[in-house]
Amino acid sequence: MIMKTITVLSLLLLASTLSSSLARGSYQTLLPSDFNHRSNVSCTRHLLEEIESRSSTSSVDLAQGYMSNSDLERAVKEFGQRCSNISRIYSIGKSVNGVPLWVIEISDKPGEEETEPAFKYIGNVHGDEPVGRELIMFLANWLCDNHLKDPLATLIVENVHLHLLPSMNPDGFTLRKRGNANNIDLNRDFPDQFIFVNNDEDSRQPETKAIMNWSRDIRFTASATLHGGALVANYPWDGTDDKRTFYYGCPDDEAFRFMASIYSHSHYNMSSSKEFVDGITNGAAWYPLYGGMQDWNYIHAGCFELTLEISDNKWPVAAELPIIWKYNKMSMLNLVASLVKTGVHGRIYSSGDGRPLPALITVGGINYTVRAGRTFAGYHRLLAPRDKYEVVATMPGYKSRNTTIWLDEGAMTLDFVLDPEVSMKGSILQNVYDCNCDSKSKLEFVEFLWGSHLEVFFVFFVILGFLCLLFQKRKKVKYSTTKQRTVVV
Ligand SMILES: [Zn+2]
Repeated sequence: MIMKTITVLSLLLLASTLSSSLARGSYQTLLPSDFNHRSNVSCTRHLLEEIESRSSTSSVDLAQGYMSNSDLERAVKEFGQRCSNISRIYSIGKSVNGVPLWVIEISDKPGEEETEPAFKYIGNVHGDEPVGRELIMFLANWLCDNHLKDPLATLIVENVHLHLLPSMNPDGFTLRKRGNANNIDLNRDFPDQFIFVNNDEDSRQPETKAIMNWSRDIRFTASATLHGGALVANYPWDGTDDKRTFYYGCPDDEAFRFMASIYSHSHYNMSSSKEFVDGITNGAAWYPLYGGMQDWNYIHAGCFELTLEISDNKWPVAAELPIIWKYNKMSMLNLVASLVKTGVHGRIYSSGDGRPLPALITVGGINYTVRAGRTFAGYHRLLAPRDKYEVVATMPGYKSRNTTIWLDEGAMTLDFVLDPEVSMKGSILQNVYDCNCDSKSKLEFVEFLWGSHLEVFFVFFVILGFLCLLFQKRKKVKYSTTKQRTVVV
């Protein structure tokens, strides 16, 4: 197991006051001065806004060698049969013209709820950017062929639930155009924090609704959409509040830059881009857009999403696809693997009865909240490696707990045990004192006190044991994380 484990027994720690101002929705703008220079980078997002000129004139030739929608459906279903032990096939809805939006889930326990993080890749958001749908099928097949043979494939299959949607826009693909069958750009169709034109749920496109419902259902930790027309890893925010073009980082700017760098540095030549420093860019620094998918994911779905431009040429000849896959293979794999190789992960329990608590996780200085899962109370908090983070767990009715961690280039497992805010037994005790007790209730009172004392003794020894454990582990944490440098960046 790659993660190192440090268990924080909150019984031991003094309760710290949690600022209630950490609620999601009111984001502080981070404008790191050392990154402002990137807004001077050439802002020409060539091809993306330049209409689908070439594709509409010679679409038949361009699509030659690419999978048609029915080819893709067949490939997905064949994959499901060939790799049935580590996958399941399902549809999240249909396009305007009724084409099913097929998804492949890859996991050693597909379809089962676990504490593991979930990741999604979405291809072909824009109909005239078909490379992504092909690469996603390359990725699925590579994982199936290399599970239990290649360590990275095995790690992903056994530790992540990977969901793959090769085509979000099958109608646009058939029409060889950017938008869907209603000519709507799907990456402008999501609710936006700055512009409210998209907030009418009924007017949203079926493909967009499908993604939104899917994201709420699966609760992805991270994701990426695959586009074409440039070569860069793009991260939030995509928009600015005044529509100007400048670097506009989200609260997790540091984590996003780290994620984007994992992709660009694992890529054949993305990081050596002449246009984008390190092969990554803040969306708004490149050019602002509104109604995009990545900002919506971060704000509303608790999901860290990148927008990946994976090929300068939107429609390369099909013979180039294996080469483009080769260039992107390690990037696609390492980005998924980063979910378990980096960040902080754990579960949250009640000290009372040990049950899992769907608590909230916040990190000092970052105005963003991650919610633990409802069933197992597992959480996954992506963070860039840094010396110190203060991690806080909060749950209504429980005392908040916080701890400081040292996060090098490895993942950490951090569990919390929260104490109930008001002890039920404390209230009962008060009632017993107040009551006019008869002999029977006195006897119950004595039994109750004895029971409580046993608990107190038990808790005391547990505390003592874990204090020792905690002290020893704290000393080892920094050493062990530096030893295990697992991220390929
Ligand atoms: Zn695109």
